[in-house]
Amino acid sequence: MKKWNLVLVLLLTMVMLAACGNTNDKKSAEKGDNGKLQVITTYSILYDIVKNVGGDRVEIHSLAPIGSNPHEYDPLPADVQKTTDADAVFYNGLNLEAGNSWFENLLQTAGKSGENAPVFRLSEGVAAKHLTTKGKESEEDPHAWLDVRNGIKYAENARDALIKVDPEHKAMYEKNAKDYIEKLNKLHEDAVKQYNQIPKEQRVLVTSEGAFKYFSEAYDFQAGYIWEINSENQGTPDQVSAIVDLIRERSIPALFVETSIDPRSMEMVSRETDVPIVGKVFTDSLGKPGEDGDTYIKMMEWNIKTIYEGLTKK
Ligand SMILES: [Zn+2]
Repeated sequence: MKKWNLVLVLLLTMVMLAACGNTNDKKSAEKGDNGKLQVITTYSILYDIVKNVGGDRVEIHSLAPIGSNPHEYDPLPADVQKTTDADAVFYNGLNLEAGNSWFENLLQTAGKSGENAPVFRLSEGVAAKHLTTKGKESEEDPHAWLDVRNGIKYAENARDALIKVDPEHKAMYEKNAKDYIEKLNKLHEDAVKQYNQIPKEQRVLVTSEGAFKYFSEAYDFQAGYIWEINSENQGTPDQVSAIVDLIRERSIPALFVETSIDPRSMEMVSRETDVPIVGKVFTDSLGKPGEDGDTYIKMMEWNIKTIYEGLTKK
């Protein structure tokens, strides 16, 4: 308990410092504002997609920090201020930012909950998949970006939204989006080619959270998981024994663990089954700047390669 108190004091101090810093920022922002569009994204993956389309025209503040879980986030005072001041706010939707209603509450507090507020859902137009856990079948699965074809939709939606709030720079947003989408198309095609080399019955992907529904459809995998979606019930004994059974039944050779999730549950499954965790995969967060998977393209390349190697290693 003592340790937590200390952490709390440190956090509060940081919040206060951040709040002070923000007042100063605000003053200079009112003067110059460097002419850039002020943009908010709810987490790092959207940050990178919007950055690629917006280029130098946008200054983006991303809410849930790198390495954290965007299903649940507690906005800081600085986040509220920046959301209030933002020209555009981008979120994933499909039930992602729904934990504790944190995003809805933030929009309310920041005066951006009205019908005409510049708030844009980047998953617009994606064919939603739903959870399969009993009692949760009506809930959408948010992890659409793990199918690169949906990433392309996100980029198109970002382009259209930026043009809407900043029509003067339409040509630039169109050009950036076109170049970026070309790269994404190639990434998707390369992934399909690579996975076609793995026999279908070997394409089983086991992770902690069931974040790979969209990915599995795109690349013809079966996905296994300990729990279906990040929530308060993670890694219960029933969940662990169900995945252990699947791993034994299918003789699955490799397990994966997400960078934004506590690895202990998967480590327990690995000990129980004697099947190794062969690598980390990125699901709900990019890697830190300068490290592995620090852009959407790089995180997908990392996942594609890590999964390929993990399942084909003899
Ligand atoms: Zn997730």
